[in-house]
Amino acid sequence: MSDSKATNALSLLQTVFGYDAFRSHQAEIIDDLVAGSDCFVLMPTGGGKSLCYQIPALIRPGTAIVVSPLIALMQDQVSALKANGVKAAYYNSTLDYESADQVLMQLHTGQLDLLYVSPERLLNQTFFQQLQQLPIALFAIDEAHCISQWGHDFRPEYSKIGQLRDYFPQVPFIALTATADAATRQDILQRLNLHQPHVHVSSFDRPNIRYTVFEKRQPMKQLLSFLEARPGHQESGIVYCLSRKRVEEVALQLQDKGYRAKAYHAGLPGDVRQAVHQQFIRDEVDIVVATVAFGMGIDKPNVRFVVHYDLPKNIEGYYQETGRAGRDGLESEALLLYGAQDIVTARHFVENNPNEDQRRIENFKLSCMVDFAEAQSCRRSVLLNYFDERTDHACGNCDICLNPPRFFDATVAAQKALSCVYRLDQGFGVRHVIDVLRGMEHERIRQLNHQSLSTYGIGKEYSVVEWDSLIRQLIHLGYLVQDIQQYSVLKLTEKAGDLLKGKVSLQLAMPRNKVPKSTRGGQK
Ligand code: ADP
Ligand code: ZN
Repeated sequence: MSDSKATNALSLLQTVFGYDAFRSHQAEIIDDLVAGSDCFVLMPTGGGKSLCYQIPALIRPGTAIVVSPLIALMQDQVSALKANGVKAAYYNSTLDYESADQVLMQLHTGQLDLLYVSPERLLNQTFFQQLQQLPIALFAIDEAHCISQWGHDFRPEYSKIGQLRDYFPQVPFIALTATADAATRQDILQRLNLHQPHVHVSSFDRPNIRYTVFEKRQPMKQLLSFLEARPGHQESGIVYCLSRKRVEEVALQLQDKGYRAKAYHAGLPGDVRQAVHQQFIRDEVDIVVATVAFGMGIDKPNVRFVVHYDLPKNIEGYYQETGRAGRDGLESEALLLYGAQDIVTARHFVENNPNEDQRRIENFKLSCMVDFAEAQSCRRSVLLNYFDERTDHACGNCDICLNPPRFFDATVAAQKALSCVYRLDQGFGVRHVIDVLRGMEHERIRQLNHQSLSTYGIGKEYSVVEWDSLIRQLIHLGYLVQDIQQYSVLKLTEKAGDLLKGKVSLQLAMPRNKVPKSTRGGQK
């Protein structure tokens, strides 16, 4: 039975969609769904998730209901399906009364293989009751991470979808997402209440993308030299900035330097955004400088680089944004400019979130992002490990692999840092520990009487940057932990004991892209 279905699926792939063969996982997922099992699919963007439910929708009797929060994407998908002769429609708030009516009529008369619905429309009581009377081929929950507070794009209207499963006991469900760490994944499965789901996790590795992190100093200069050093001219690329203001500034400066660059952010009128998108797709604009608003539905194969001018808020976002490079499989570059100030700004954003749970989660995710930026081992491994994909070999295509950090004997320095944390009763964060080590004389130190500690001023030989790098490494290596529940206070781990007692020695990496002496003066 499974064999004939597989053949059936393959012939649909070829005749309807015009592709020769399935990509990894697609065939199994389709098989599972056709056989009536629930599925959970974690596959990177561009991996080919849509076919996983579109083909079963054509094989199973009834209409497939695809829940998606992205209205623009819905329209694209439906047009593409119609162009292939598939009977598809969407039902969301953009339809006028008449068109909505017509879609419902098609649905009720069994003329649709697929119906894309927004969560709001789906949960509309009348619609929902009607659905229960109709033959449904399957439910596909696209962008399933939106259901989880752990996800980076939680949408309250999505959370009600969890009830859906119980109302349609006989219909298979498939939940799909491109971005979910292990915690989010568990949460999605639980919230959607899937029945013994078959879990399909594809590799997140994008071997043709080279990951590089620069310590951010003069970002505009760094961006320009990066662009000048690129081999090709008029290459397509995206530069992501955190704020609209920064987007405008960077775009202007690039234009001044003769680049065909345009700004894109949610504050621009819809037609302007649409035009920039189109020009980028048609290679009439080379560089789009954008906030994260730019991205949904960009399916452009020849994006050669993605630059993050500011630190992204989490690894999911970073991965998704960098993943827009190199869809054609050719060598591409992901450059992150990473500065200490960015962490402060990002933390500030997070602290503004009134929801305490979300604040804690976002802070945690931000710390993981920082860990990535500060890693002294293969970037790709850090990234893949974050998505729970274990790799133990260095990739050979990231800045760390290509230009390994230099190490020095940091035993004594590390002992100083650890004893300072201890003397401070494990009650202070990185910044304060460094100030005490360097013997700073400021108000807070005096108030706390920390100038009388035995570790006060024992670390004057290193700069703030150097201590910062050293302490971050001690965190990565598990000698220190930052208590995320408690203002990122530094605490010693059991492992720290051996180092403090002098039982082991320690090699650490020299700080990379060291800040030149002249610009250090301003730092406390
Ligand atoms: P996702 O939803 O995972 O981001 P899509 O479903 O949009 O990815 O697919 C990404 C691109 O890959 C689309 O252009 C799609 O047509 C194409 N694609 C999907 N499956 C195959 C396949 N088996 N062979 C060739 N191209 C495919
Ligand atoms: Zn590497």
